[in-house]
Amino acid sequence: MIGLLGFAAIFGAGRWFAWSSRWLWLAAWGWLAVLLVAHAPYMPPALGQFVGGEFRGWLLLGVLALVALGYRAGLRRLRGQVVPKAEAVPKPGTFSPTELDRYARHIMLREIGGPGQKRLKAARVLVVGAGGLGSPALLYLAASGVGVIGVIDDDAVEGSNLQRQIIHTDARIGMPKVFSAQMAIQALNPFIEVRPYQRRLDQATAAALVADYDLVLDGTDNFDTRYLLNRVCVAAGKPLISAAITQWEGQISLYDPARGGPCYECVFPVRPAPGLAPSCAEAGVVSPLPGVLGAMMALEAVKHITDAGTGLRGRLMIHDALYAQARVIAVQHRADCPVCGGLQRAAATR
Ligand SMILES: [Zn+2]
Repeated sequence: MIGLLGFAAIFGAGRWFAWSSRWLWLAAWGWLAVLLVAHAPYMPPALGQFVGGEFRGWLLLGVLALVALGYRAGLRRLRGQVVPKAEAVPKPGTFSPTELDRYARHIMLREIGGPGQKRLKAARVLVVGAGGLGSPALLYLAASGVGVIGVIDDDAVEGSNLQRQIIHTDARIGMPKVFSAQMAIQALNPFIEVRPYQRRLDQATAAALVADYDLVLDGTDNFDTRYLLNRVCVAAGKPLISAAITQWEGQISLYDPARGGPCYECVFPVRPAPGLAPSCAEAGVVSPLPGVLGAMMALEAVKHITDAGTGLRGRLMIHDALYAQARVIAVQHRADCPVCGGLQRAAATR
């Protein structure tokens, strides 16, 4: 009698305390072993009578349970062989049926279509900074199906980031931002490649990194990196989509002097004195604003890659969120620009 009550107590407690099935079965098998030992020939007969039943009865129960477990495992294996039918790996440059379904709303757009989606898949985009601007930019590049996305950042996720850096989560506080971003991107779209670089963009390695990509998105929060990235992109002839935000206002443009238009330093030749252009940490920023500008960076990237519409080359868009106003102003190349001046002179005399 005690033997059966023991099993009832184990399963009752398991349900009450929500044990995992592993612990539940471990306890049940343990109790069965106790019952068998209690009936062993060298044990006092009174103990066997106390727990109830007999040795052969409990042994039969154990054997039946093993047979049932074996049958269930066999069924599971059989089902496993049938269900996960691996999708044929598509040839390079083509899409699997699952990918075609995923990108269907893109493919039906006249300006993107199948050829545009192929260009997106073949594209390699580097995002500098996995913060406020980088978060939505990375997510939308991934959702769009950009084939290779690089992300460089040396920071770790902090609680104060989560007010706007929506690619990260509360559970990932303390994790390097690039790995947190990689997790989010892979969860969103497993059909693309993410390359995380957990370091600061520096003079020594920036050129080699940028050379690996077709297009660069600048979502950094400091002017040193911004000017360095512009110099490296101009030297490599890579287009740069750069955005900036503070408090209630943001701006965005495409700097691509190799194909006409100014570089970042043509438009912002003088670096603001320290304190004059405060960062988000110093001045504050409204949560959805980096969402607007970061999504716009991804949008301009998709347009650039698929050659859709008119981009922001030679145009600076300024978004005033507090008064819900956006305006676009023309920006021009400066002949005496120390970064791209020589490049444009060379192009003119060619
Ligand atoms: Zn310039």
